[in-house]
Parts: sequence; structure tokens; C-alpha cells
Amino acid sequence: MIRPLLFIVDKSIKVDYYLKNDMRENFFKNLKCTLCGASYSPEKPHNLCQCGAPLFARYEIGELKKKLERNSFDKKNLSIWRYKELLPLQDEKEIVSLGEGFTPLIQANDLAEELKIKKLLIKDESQNPTSSFKARGMSAAVSMAKKYGIKDICLPSAGNAASALSAYCAEAKIAAHIFVPEKIEPEILLECRVFGSDIRKVKGAISDCANAMQNDRNYKNWFDLSTLKEPYRIEGKKTMGYELAEQLNWKLPDVIIYPTGGGTGLIGMWKGFDELEKLGFIDKKRPRMISVQSEGCAPIVKAFQQGKEISEFWENSKTIASGINVPKALGDFLILKVLRESKGSAVSVKEEEILKSIKDISQSTGIFPCPEGAATLAGLKKLKQKGLVREDDLVVLFNTASGLKYVNTLKPLL
Ligand SMILES: *Cc1c(COP(=O)(O)O)cnc(C)c1O
Repeated sequence: MIRPLLFIVDKSIKVDYYLKNDMRENFFKNLKCTLCGASYSPEKPHNLCQCGAPLFARYEIGELKKKLERNSFDKKNLSIWRYKELLPLQDEKEIVSLGEGFTPLIQANDLAEELKIKKLLIKDESQNPTSSFKARGMSAAVSMAKKYGIKDICLPSAGNAASALSAYCAEAKIAAHIFVPEKIEPEILLECRVFGSDIRKVKGAISDCANAMQNDRNYKNWFDLSTLKEPYRIEGKKTMGYELAEQLNWKLPDVIIYPTGGGTGLIGMWKGFDELEKLGFIDKKRPRMISVQSEGCAPIVKAFQQGKEISEFWENSKTIASGINVPKALGDFLILKVLRESKGSAVSVKEEEILKSIKDISQSTGIFPCPEGAATLAGLKKLKQKGLVREDDLVVLFNTASGLKYVNTLKPLL
């Protein structure tokens, strides 16, 4: 659980072979539709399935099972690429990495005591490049785009995905065309500009940005990297699940509380757990997966409570937690499936509760969380009151980004 002091990202260093029998192979098989099951060859880039649903990467798990052990992951690699065999690229030369992933799991003992929970851990994703977990997905997706020779990528983003994409595209020499809400955090806008992205401001929420992007006359010349409209961002994000398993000695926690917007983190982790179970690295026991949203934008919570399989568009959404200001997630049916399969839940929290939780986490752990991350603590308090989290549970909260990216929004805390 302790982060090593020295971590050099040096692409000239040849990392030792890590497979049992020194074989370097690609175990990435194909892409499969999450709805109709159609499969696609990864030889060329893909967006959605013809039926309109997201595609997931599939691996030769049977072959991998023969070759890979829990401890054969590359211990020297402290990034998501530690798990290369389970990612779409293996060749170091093709990987676009800024050292994303392998973030610490920090014990929040004081908060645990206060809330009367056996053990509370915070997965601190603010320690990623560009200070959010979005870096994980962008490393995988931009690496694949570069391999395919893609020159232009477009994306609608509420913020953190925009700066992460900007950084990885700068490294990969790919042009990034990003549509952001005009109310984007100035810190994040600055990052995008510094990295040299083409930024368009749009009135409204991320859904309006997506519409503006699709109506742009150049849209057809760009590769669309929208959440779940492209299959590799989720591959990067599933590594959060691998890391949790490895950091907890291959025993998953009882509860994972995740601030849910597009849902890729949640869906990705669930996919990751599936793969680990098929490999025999973890047993059947899964965490209860819990989505937290703001009362100002809670389409998943509403659909969960109503027992629906898909969510409804949330009109006039508003929250300081911009990363979870997603009125309608493309993968809503996948999120809801994970919540139910895991016997989890969904809760919404008030804006004041989010602000208060920022201080609570900061003052008790030394982590300065983003509003989305703070929402998970506010959610946990509610869940504990309702008896949905119990005293003997091991609970993991996700702090998905740094509070420093929200200075303007968090002025009331000054
Ligand atoms: C994007 C984002 C989220 C939502 O993530 P999903 O995995 O798409 O649900 C949460 N927190 C922050 C800080 C984000 O940037």
C-alpha cells in the first residue's frame, strides 16, 4: 500500500519478461458487443456496435490462465501497464504512458472510527497524471489510436477527460478537438490550452457538448473518443479493479463507493473483476458496488430506485461535482446491471454535504479530494444510516481527482 519513492518512466528501459515461460504474446482476441454479442476484429478502429451499444475487449483468458500467475505481473512497472497481458497492447514502443495508475490505497482510520466501520480505505486517484483517474483510460485509448495512425481525436468532456486527453495527445502528437461546457473549471481549461488542444466552449452540460461535436462539419474526419463510444478507455479504467485486488492481497473489499457519471469506472472495475475471477486470481466474492450522484443530477439513482433497466435524461442538471454532471449515460444499462448483480445500491447527496465532506476528508486524511470524491463520503454516511453498509464492512471510497482542479468552484471554502 506504500507508494515507492522513485518511479522513473523511461521508455528506453527494457522491462523484463514477466510471463511464466518468457513468451511475449498478445492475448487480446476481439471486441464484443455488450448488448447483441456481435464481434469485431481489432485490426481497425471501432466505435459502437452496429446495434448502437458499446463494445468490450475480450482476451484469450484460457490461454492466459495457463501462462500467468498472480505474482507474474511486472512488479517493476508501477503503472496500469503492469497488467499488459490484460490490456490491448503489449509492445512498449506502442504504449503512450505518463505513469498513470498504481495509485495508493490510503487508510482513513479516523473517518472509519467516526462512522463506526471496521476499515475504510480511499483509493486516491488524484495522484495520476493530470490529477484524475481519466488518465488511465486515455493512456489505453490514445495508445490504440496512435497504433491505428489516427491523427485527430474528438471528445465532449465536463473537464477531467479533456485535460487527460490533451496530455496524452500532446505526447502522442495527435490533434485533440474537445467540446467543453462554458462553465468548465478554469484550471482544467488552462491545462487543455497549455497542452495545445483545440477547445470549443458550449453552453450547457456535457450532453450539449456531445451534440455540438456531432454537428461540427469536421466531425466525420475525427475519431470519436466519447465515453463508451470507443472500447479502450474502459480497458484503462478497469485497472482500478486489478489494483484494488492486488493491493488487498487478492481479496476484494465488501463495498466500493464510486462517484458515477458515465459509469466507466464502475463498469470497468466489474469487467476487471470478471477477468480476475476467470483467471482464478480471485474467488467469487464481489464487492457491493455503490453509485453516488448529486441530488442535482441523479439519473442512475432514480432508475435504480424505480427498478428500471435504463435511466431517463435528467433535465437542467446542476452540481459542483462536474465529473458526475452526466444527465444520461450511454452505458446506463450496464451501470444498473452492475449495481444489481453486486447487490449494491445508489444514493444521491446534497451539494452542502459534498462541500462538508471535502473538509472532512482533507482534515482527517491529508487528501484534498475533488467534489466527486467527497460525494462518496457523504454517500457512505447515508448508507451507514440506512444499514446498507455495516460495521464489519471493509469499504473503499474512490477519490477520482484532486480538489486543486476545482479552485474556482470551491471558493466558498476559502
Ligand atoms: C469523469 C469523472 C467521474 C465519473 O466517472 P465515470 O467513471 O465516467 O462514472 C467522477 N469523478 C471525476 C473527478 C471525474 O472526472
